Amino acid sequence: MRTFNTIVSLKSFIKDAKRQSFSVGLVPTMGALHEGHAELIKSSTFENEVTICSVFVNPAQFNNPQDLDNYPRTLEADLQFLDKLGCSAVFSPAVQEIYNREMSLKFDLGHIGEKLEGKHRPGHFNGVALIVSKLFNIVNPDRAYFGQKDLQQFKIIDLLVKDLSFGIELKCTPIVRDKNGLALSSRNMRLTNDGLKKAALLNQVLVESENYLVNGKSINEVVSDADQLLNENDITLEYLELVDLETFESVKNKSDNNSVALCIAAYVEGIRLIDNRIF
Ligand code: AMP
Repeated sequence: MRTFNTIVSLKSFIKDAKRQSFSVGLVPTMGALHEGHAELIKSSTFENEVTICSVFVNPAQFNNPQDLDNYPRTLEADLQFLDKLGCSAVFSPAVQEIYNREMSLKFDLGHIGEKLEGKHRPGHFNGVALIVSKLFNIVNPDRAYFGQKDLQQFKIIDLLVKDLSFGIELKCTPIVRDKNGLALSSRNMRLTNDGLKKAALLNQVLVESENYLVNGKSINEVVSDADQLLNENDITLEYLELVDLETFESVKNKSDNNSVALCIAAYVEGIRLIDNRIF
């Protein structure tokens, strides 16, 4: 497995791969890798001759400086993990390599950029759009792999690819969970054992809420029940919202012909976690 810190050296590797007509898969990550990331890498190595994983904690997408400082960084372990998975190359640039000047470009992502994560983390999706666009331009992959875990992010990247004609095939991988149902996340590393057990309630809430909604309970009742259960377990609910899967418009119930996504964000031991369920 090759490792690159500079754009120039990575580009030269990619040029070489393309000269040999190899297809290139890109898996963007912020490191502290786990089995969720492994699924993306495995999909890419299965579908492409060359898989490039970027490991970059992107300051532009953090609206909270403390969250950025506390974000886990485990590059040595990540490199070993990726090597075992058969990843071809890792791109782990310093911040200065990516942001060598003040960024003035701002993305207006419309309605979808303003709700849920966009509403609660101002500037977050602008930072995501910026780094993903940069990585797409640097790597110019045939395919790029993202997780359903960040569903709204996937929708926004899909919008970017379509509106800016990136010509990249996007792949969305299902959420990988632990044995208690907790969605794997790099942030879980910061939870105590007790916190990890409590955090599994997020998925439990999603599963139960789907059941209630399908059986005619109103979304308001569902949110109020969830809020109470989470509160009793020292978890602070930030949002629990039902949205149309295509438009990401808030909806009150699942209609017969449209899929919906139930999206949740909550704080466990002060760590912000997100999850979702499509039905
Ligand atoms: P991150 O390093 O958290 O920015 O995530 C990098 C990519 O991995 C994103 O596309 C995430 O959606 C995806 N990802 C993170 N956690 C999971 C998970 N539990 N299952 C599947 N994909 C995930």
